[in-house]
Amino acid sequence: MRPEIEKILPSEMNDDVMSIGNVNCPNSATKIVRIVHISDTHHAHNTLTPLRPLSGNIAILRSTSIDSPNQIIDETGADAFARSASARLQMQASESNDSSFHKGGTFLSSFRRSHSSSTSVPPGDVLIHSGDFAWNSKAPGLFRSENFEEIIQAMNDFFDRFPHKVKIFVAGNHEASLEGKKLLSVQERLTSAVYLYNSSYTYEGIHFYGAPYTPFRLTTNATGFQRHSRSIAAHWREIPSRTDVLITHTPPHGILDLATDFTARKVPKLSSAIHRLLPKGPCSTCGIIHPGRSHWGCRHLREEVLIRIKPKLHLFGHVHECNGITTKNGVTFSNAAYKLSKQHHVFDYYVS
Ligand SMILES: [Zn+2]
Ligand SMILES: [Zn+2]
Repeated sequence: MRPEIEKILPSEMNDDVMSIGNVNCPNSATKIVRIVHISDTHHAHNTLTPLRPLSGNIAILRSTSIDSPNQIIDETGADAFARSASARLQMQASESNDSSFHKGGTFLSSFRRSHSSSTSVPPGDVLIHSGDFAWNSKAPGLFRSENFEEIIQAMNDFFDRFPHKVKIFVAGNHEASLEGKKLLSVQERLTSAVYLYNSSYTYEGIHFYGAPYTPFRLTTNATGFQRHSRSIAAHWREIPSRTDVLITHTPPHGILDLATDFTARKVPKLSSAIHRLLPKGPCSTCGIIHPGRSHWGCRHLREEVLIRIKPKLHLFGHVHECNGITTKNGVTFSNAAYKLSKQHHVFDYYVS
């Protein structure tokens, strides 16, 4: 069960296309860039396949708004979005001569799952993987351990299968074999995707920035790019203020980051005994009592994101229990940590 800590979209609505960027003034938007976010595929990447744009149904749904509807899309915006999305999809349809597409109606939102495999990834302009592609670990025998060459080869094979114009990869704590490698030496070999390592990339005027770090945890053996508090804060301070789409592996603290503790997972009886001894009371972060779970997200990152950077979109993974989308202070947050039933999130970024 997912915790009801935040207003998280129900899973069946997570296929909807969220609108971000200049959505409140859709008339001034000149282009829509569709961003597809996946994360934490952990060696299941071979089960993800490209969804051919018109092989399934195009669902006729309203774009879903969540916490703050006006920040996502208003009524006027919804109509404009419907028209532009319709035009866009019809253009794709005529390019591929799929007559089944032209059945009328307003095409507002997503690719309905009923006609596609549950592991299909929708088409789009930019495909972003926010880390933990591998099960790589510093503890041999616990997880499959790949060397650098193997993981690069697997990533090239994976990204090459997808039709998106741009693919972006940011490493996670399971990418131990990328730790210590310079950006250029990885990028030279990773020919199928843009590797963001404390670096940025601009596409259609949208500024993307990616960094791989997660806060250090004693109970993990996958310690690639894990950092203690002070050094992680220094990395976040390097993120340019002018970032539209921020990609990290870790969530910010208190946002889609509630994880099951190691003892609750491995030794549930011991965990309940500990919790009986601890003082009872709501969590100081979210105000909820959640024994056996704690917030894994980074406090320093939260501050930087909500106060200084304020990107339109912050993409991450790492905490598998909190796959979802939420908004706060005008920032849309997406945790796409892999689950078979909800493997991707789709955003239409309005560029003016
Ligand atoms: Zn809490
Ligand atoms: Zn991770």
